Amino acid sequence: MSNIDYGLLRKYTGISATAEQLLSRPEKETYFNLSLKISPDKVIQADSYVVYFNTVRGPAKGGIRMAPDVTLDETRDLAERMLWKTALARIPFGGGKTGIAIDPKKLSRFEKTAVIKEYVHVMNLDLRYGVYVPAPDMGTDATDMAVIFGELHIPECVTGKPPRVGGLPGRREATGRGVSHAALLMLEDALKKRPKGATAAVQGFGNVGSYAALFLHEAGVKVVAVSDLTGGRCNPKGLDIPALFAYAAKNGSLDGAPGKRISNDELLLAKVDILAPCARENQITRDNARKIRAAAVVEGANGPTTAEADVILSERKIPVAPDILANSGGVIASYVEWRQAKSGSITEKDETFEVVEDRIGIAFEDMRRVAAEKKVSFRTACQISAAEELVASLKDRDWI
Ligand code: NAD
Repeated sequence: MSNIDYGLLRKYTGISATAEQLLSRPEKETYFNLSLKISPDKVIQADSYVVYFNTVRGPAKGGIRMAPDVTLDETRDLAERMLWKTALARIPFGGGKTGIAIDPKKLSRFEKTAVIKEYVHVMNLDLRYGVYVPAPDMGTDATDMAVIFGELHIPECVTGKPPRVGGLPGRREATGRGVSHAALLMLEDALKKRPKGATAAVQGFGNVGSYAALFLHEAGVKVVAVSDLTGGRCNPKGLDIPALFAYAAKNGSLDGAPGKRISNDELLLAKVDILAPCARENQITRDNARKIRAAAVVEGANGPTTAEADVILSERKIPVAPDILANSGGVIASYVEWRQAKSGSITEKDETFEVVEDRIGIAFEDMRRVAAEKKVSFRTACQISAAEELVASLKDRDWI
């Protein structure tokens, strides 16, 4: 099922049937059984999916997800989100994704490197010609991207590499930086509040959530609750986020961290200005949407709000900065890394953050304008803005 409400797009943009058909169905889906003999008596096999949802605006861009339960449906869903995210941010990429159904925790570093090398072997021509530009996603990291680079020796064929190996300073922090920037814009613009004195709760304390909490804290926002799979910590006066960040970096999670406990369910219902779900999909559902007490939601995770919950939040006039806007910092930084690799230039961390904030700022402005003009939710406004960009691109390429 598509993430995009084509019924509303037909109503507000007059999207043609041909454009809808081209944008709503994936351009190319590949399945392969990744197989390699890793030792005299061991063979590793993994069902693998690569989806190019649409490449009208540039190479398919999207991470490699390695998880035992990843499916073609999930890979397709994530590739579609990448398409709309890159169009909304106006960066020259299309939407793509890879899913490799294997548990990375059960692989040694040596085995994982061998799996990645085999993936490059299968995908060689697409990677070499820049048809698809991967990046890390759940289960893969900067080292895996360095392995891809090492197999091809083409710096722009992959992003999310370690900074010493053609990667970008600030790429690691970029998604959280973007979430925090979207939250600050939401505070200022939609809630008419300054960061100082405002409050936030952040669900998920991994790459996205921990940096989002840290940057919000640095901007003066009182982060009163954070959580991960092991549970949460809260303090109505504001948590010591740098200390919790350091604790989680050292120990791998918030498990055992000092402070008053809060469950994940309670965190989602905290009375705060900004609720930032940064953990995983389907966290705000029809069961808890009526009880949400946040003044606004900023979606750090992909798809944290179900469609039913979205309607409820909209009825309750709780504005939602949707995932395709709020968590686009990662792919925007990937664009900067790709540009750096193509040009051979050197980028400083501040410049990475500047581009992330700039692109999210422009998309936010556009979202506000469209929402006001058409009297629609922020999510629909983002979809309208991205659809206009995609349809114009289809025309530019004479696809419609
Ligand atoms: P991660 O694995 O680094 O962190 C996930 C965090 O969520 C962990 O702290 C984990 O303990 C916590 N978590 C998992 N299930 C939870 C639950 N039920 N309740 C509370 N906490 C829970 O992953 P990440 O890279 O931070 O990604 C988080 C989300 O953001 C995902 O939806 C991902 O697709 C999306 N996203 C990530 C990036 C990126 O650059 N990393 C970019 C765009 C979108």
